[in-house]
Amino acid sequence: MATIKCIGILTSGGDAPGMNAAIRAVTRTAIFHGLQVKGIYRGYKGLITGEIAEFKSQNVSNIIQLGGTILKTARCKEFRTPEGRAIAYETMQREGIDALVVIGGDGSLTGARIFAQEFNIPCVGLPGTIDNDLYGTDSTIGYDTALNTILDAVDKIRDTATSHERLFFVEVMGRDAGFLALNGAIASGAEAAIIPEFNTEVDQLEEFIKNGYRKSKNSSIVLVAESELTGGAMHYAERVKNKYLDYDVRVTILGHLQRGGSPSAQDRILASRLGAAAIEALLDDQRNVMIGIVHDEIVYVPFSKAIKNDKPIKAELVNVLRALSI
Ligand code: ADP
Repeated sequence: MATIKCIGILTSGGDAPGMNAAIRAVTRTAIFHGLQVKGIYRGYKGLITGEIAEFKSQNVSNIIQLGGTILKTARCKEFRTPEGRAIAYETMQREGIDALVVIGGDGSLTGARIFAQEFNIPCVGLPGTIDNDLYGTDSTIGYDTALNTILDAVDKIRDTATSHERLFFVEVMGRDAGFLALNGAIASGAEAAIIPEFNTEVDQLEEFIKNGYRKSKNSSIVLVAESELTGGAMHYAERVKNKYLDYDVRVTILGHLQRGGSPSAQDRILASRLGAAAIEALLDDQRNVMIGIVHDEIVYVPFSKAIKNDKPIKAELVNVLRALSI
């Protein structure tokens, strides 16, 4: 295997707070080991258009505290085609990039896996998504910050919900995963969470009405994961309005504010550790793996596992929420 001299780094798909801390860690660890680093802008798009710049240590100064990603991110249809990926490979050769570090979610790592296999490129992925839906790591970069943002918002909604004795459905992100909704509900003292994982098993609204909602409570807050499977907060509010006429129902959709903000301490540390481990992994001849942390130890998860497996929701968390919301 040829030795790696130059690493390309990109952020792709949905942005997440802490991506900058990861970019910084990858860049500095690579330079520390005598490697050259190139920043690729706008995800896979930049690999196709050649929007690439050499990164020195100063290029990543003063970014650890910034939300978003200084490399920008994008969704790139062309990279889904063999022709698009062939152009990306040519760009890599022209730029002298020998290996790639991809920071992103499920889709981005799927792209990395296909690209790495097609052209035999050493490729390492970092889990960057607020949804925490990647298998093989306890947490993903951005998840903790998004959870804290949700707490801030729900605490404020609680003030007004209590004053008016209302039932609030608060929609949080989590396309296919209920981690933000479930842990957000536990941490904010919400009465229930409606999550995609349970959608086929039970009618979560009826469960909530039966178990959680008490007339004696002067307000209730239910967190709903935004997902095609749940139908989102509006769907539940409509159902309550039509069936339980005496409830005063309101909806708040938190939306993109969940992606923003300065990363939490936990996300900065996670991103720094994962970023450093990405370079160590490449130097150690690891290929096509996502770096994760499980039980506070760095782990290498083959792309195939990280992408294909669903990360399970712990039943214990569901029970905690149920018991604490009586
Ligand atoms: P995320 O990484 O946040 O899950 P997306 O699912 O939008 O975001 O994926 C980000 C990008 O990764 C896509 O725009 C595309 O360029 C690339 N990608 C996703 N899936 C594939 C695939 N099956 N083949 C090639 N590239 C892919």
